Amino acid sequence: MKRPFTIETASASIQSSIRNAVISFDEMTVSVIKVTFENKGHRINGYGFCSNGRYAQDGIIKNRFMPRLHKVSPVSLLDDNGVIDPLKCWSVFMQNEKPGGHGDRAVAAGALDMAFWDVYAKAYQKPLWKILSEQFNDNQFDEQIFVYPGGGYYYPGKGYEGLKDEFKKYQEQGYKVLKMKVGGDSIEEDLRRIDAALSVVGNGKNLCVDANARFDLKDALAFAQAIQPYDLMWYEEPLDPDDFLSHAILAESYVSSLATGENLFSKHGLQNLLRHGGLRPDRDWIQLDPALSYGLTHYLQIIEMIESFGWSRRRLIPHGGHQLALNIAAGLQTGGSESYPGVFQPFGGFADDYAIVEGLIKPQEEPGLGIEQKGDLYRRLKEIFD
Ligand code: MG
Repeated sequence: MKRPFTIETASASIQSSIRNAVISFDEMTVSVIKVTFENKGHRINGYGFCSNGRYAQDGIIKNRFMPRLHKVSPVSLLDDNGVIDPLKCWSVFMQNEKPGGHGDRAVAAGALDMAFWDVYAKAYQKPLWKILSEQFNDNQFDEQIFVYPGGGYYYPGKGYEGLKDEFKKYQEQGYKVLKMKVGGDSIEEDLRRIDAALSVVGNGKNLCVDANARFDLKDALAFAQAIQPYDLMWYEEPLDPDDFLSHAILAESYVSSLATGENLFSKHGLQNLLRHGGLRPDRDWIQLDPALSYGLTHYLQIIEMIESFGWSRRRLIPHGGHQLALNIAAGLQTGGSESYPGVFQPFGGFADDYAIVEGLIKPQEEPGLGIEQKGDLYRRLKEIFD
């Protein structure tokens, strides 16, 4: 049988002048993928990309994953209807990868897996969230999904007024809960920035802060004590993502919600966090990004795993602000999705005509991930591949 698909990959820039407490994004790249599938005389294009933050991973995709997919019999990658099957593809491209070492490989897998799911949903002419609902969630889905913009970055000359103006723009776009970066300045200065933000959002339940793993335990505790009176929506990534014991100590003294997980890349990493990080299923949030952690295929196992720990899938709000996370939130009924209305373009953000009302968004009705409905992203992908 002639192989019914081709895979192309490239690096793309998401150059940006923003910074968080730890890194600048001016050299950031992502891997992009195009899978072309010949289905009963029709050609279907599926697209994938890794989320921001870990750089492009073309070498792993080109040198390890693609040759494995090209080596097996094409029939072994198809479902009963002759459609390319993302679960089967995942098992094949991950052959001969040893356990552990989750990082760049998980990012590469996330990008490739996304493209296969886009093809698959398009072949069945359904939005991806609908496929997920039907096949993995007893036909249940959410029509209103909580989203919040990952914003409030530091950039030169921004000041309090700059932060307030940014937040007012998000509110005009329909967002309610907003997030700002902290940890890139002194506590006193960050508290003044938080006060400026609160003057726009009203109260702590509409504000998250994100330290991007900047603090050691001593500083994380000091910051927690300083922000405790605000009872914020969440205090994100206070500590190094792998320092589980420090998370457990922080969770004992900080009463309000913590959030972390965007820099864990597997269900095994999350399992360690749940076992040893002291996080509380009634209030804390888990932010693993499916496009950085082995893709949607692996995320299905992550949901199963956290439920086996007695956690609700509603405590999952993926990092990344991309359409994969939105489809997952709708079809698998997680707690929501980050959103990037202004940063990491064109890969961040949702379809052009989405309306956000009171911080809630409705998923797209078009087949696939919805990439064609985000004009700047679709144009960029066409520039790269056509
Ligand atoms: Mg974060």
